[in-house]
Amino acid sequence: MTEKLSQEMRDIFYSVEKNYNEIAENIAAAAIKSGRHPEDITFLAATKTVEPAVINHAISLGLRYIGENKVQELLSKYDEYDLDNCQLQFIGHLQTNKVRQIIGRVSMIQSVDSLKLATEISKQSVKNGVNTDILIEVNIGREENKSGVLEENLIELLEKTAALDNIKVRGLMTIPPICDSKTENYKFFDRMNKLFIDISAKTLDNVSMDFLSMGMSEDYQDAILAGANMVRVGSRLFGARIYR
Ligand SMILES: *Cc1c(COP(=O)(O)O)cnc(C)c1O
Repeated sequence: MTEKLSQEMRDIFYSVEKNYNEIAENIAAAAIKSGRHPEDITFLAATKTVEPAVINHAISLGLRYIGENKVQELLSKYDEYDLDNCQLQFIGHLQTNKVRQIIGRVSMIQSVDSLKLATEISKQSVKNGVNTDILIEVNIGREENKSGVLEENLIELLEKTAALDNIKVRGLMTIPPICDSKTENYKFFDRMNKLFIDISAKTLDNVSMDFLSMGMSEDYQDAILAGANMVRVGSRLFGARIYR
């Protein structure tokens, strides 16, 4: 197998390995700096546009979580992922009519922002005899065209979602607005962390605040310093995305 790899593929594998090690070290350093252990932080790779052979190479290096953000792309790659030691999650905007296609295939859906979507996830999970973990996506920057629930509606959505069958709320996710400064960016992360802590303290039924998923290629270290325990890194690991 290995000797058949093209030079191009070998170059990609090499840079993914270098990037993987660098990101893992940065995550570990940020974890320690924020008073936690490296293993407290979950490193999820955002794999959109990345071909399965490259994703599987990253998995062979120790990657344990991958996330796709389009249903069609996930399905087209699904049979090729090497998922024996790796969990596949859904991290993108999810249309209700597509839920049925991913239930049973993903270990967690990170982007739940409405009761309608949660209800469909519950319904399809019951139908398939599985339990689905979810995160509630928060629109922390109150951006008009962005997915996510607004802060003031979060508790209500959490409570109603938690009451549904075969769904387990495991935490919160956000994609903050694009900011001009690191300070401004950090404020959104910090605000999310406060929400996360407040909700943890409320001990709502069937809600466990296990994951605070925030931080991407440009800001995952800052996100960890602000309290994130799951980061979603794409281009920093796999290189710039080429949309075909
Ligand atoms: C693409 C994507 C990421 C990763 O983005 P990068 O900037 O490439 O690291 C993280 N989260 C979601 C939801 C994504 O779609």
